[in-house]
Amino acid sequence: MQRYFVSAEQFSEHAVIITGEDARHISKVMRGKPGDKLIVSDGNSREALAAIESIDAGEVKAAIIEPLVMDHEARIKVTVAQSLPKGDKMETVIQRCTEIGAVSFVPFLSERTIVQYDAKKEGKRLERWRKIAKEAAEQSHRNRIPTVEQPLSWKGLLSSFGDYDLVCYCYEKENGKQLRDALQPFIANLAPDAGARVLVVVGPEGGFSEKETAQADEAGAVSVGLGKRILRAETAGMAALTCILYESGEMGGM
Ligand code: SAM
Repeated sequence: MQRYFVSAEQFSEHAVIITGEDARHISKVMRGKPGDKLIVSDGNSREALAAIESIDAGEVKAAIIEPLVMDHEARIKVTVAQSLPKGDKMETVIQRCTEIGAVSFVPFLSERTIVQYDAKKEGKRLERWRKIAKEAAEQSHRNRIPTVEQPLSWKGLLSSFGDYDLVCYCYEKENGKQLRDALQPFIANLAPDAGARVLVVVGPEGGFSEKETAQADEAGAVSVGLGKRILRAETAGMAALTCILYESGEMGGM
C-alpha cells in the first residue's frame, strides 16, 4: 500500500490533505480514485490508514479510517557520516541505508575526498538527497524520514562526536578491534528500551589519512574493522549499519 509523508498541518482530526508532488503521484502515477486506501504519516507522531475521498487538480483529500501504530523505527538511532564519494554513490548510500534504518546522514569532506562540494552551487544536490531519503522512507515503510545534513568539514564532523553515545570510524587497516568488539559491550550496557545515538564514520575511496585517524581517536571515536575484505566506500556504511541493527536485535529474531 502506498505511503506518503505529509506535514502535521495537512492532518486534521478526520481527514488529510495531500498536495504537490504526492498528489500528482496519486492521480497520475497511481491513477488513484475515491475509495482507494493509502497510508499517511506526519513523520513524527501520527500515522493513519486513509481512503481517498476526492482528487482535484493538485489536491487529494482522504478520510482517516484508523490510526496506525508507529513501531517501524529502531531504538538505536544510527547516523551515517560519509566522506563524499564520487558520482552519484551518495544517493545509493542514502537510499539503501534509509531502507535498513539509518536516522540521519552527514556528508563530509576529508583529506582524500575526491569530489569538491561548493554549498552555494550544490543546494540542488542536497535537495535531491533529501528527496531520495523521503522516497526510500516511503518505500520501506519507515515512520520517519531520515535527515540529510549540510556537508561538514572534517573538523566540523570531529566536533560533533560529543553528540553521540558511540562513534565508530570504519578503518580497513584496523587489525585489532572489529565492529562487533565495540558493539557488544555498548549494547550489553544499554537499558532494555533505551535508545542510543551511534555515529558510523566512513572514509572516501582513498581512505582516511593517518592524521585523520589520530584526530578521530583523540576525539573519542573507536576505530573498527569490518572484516578482512576491503569494501567500497558506498558499501561500508551499509555493512556497519546492518551489523549495528542486527547486533541490537533490530533486524528481527530476538
Ligand atoms: N584504503 C582502502 C583501500 O585499500 O582500497 C580504500 C578505502 S575503502 C575503499 C573506503 C572506506 O570504506 C574506508 O575509508 C573505510 O571507512 C571503509 N572500509 C572499507 N573496507 C573496510 C574494512 N574492511 N574495515 C573497515 N572499514 C572499511
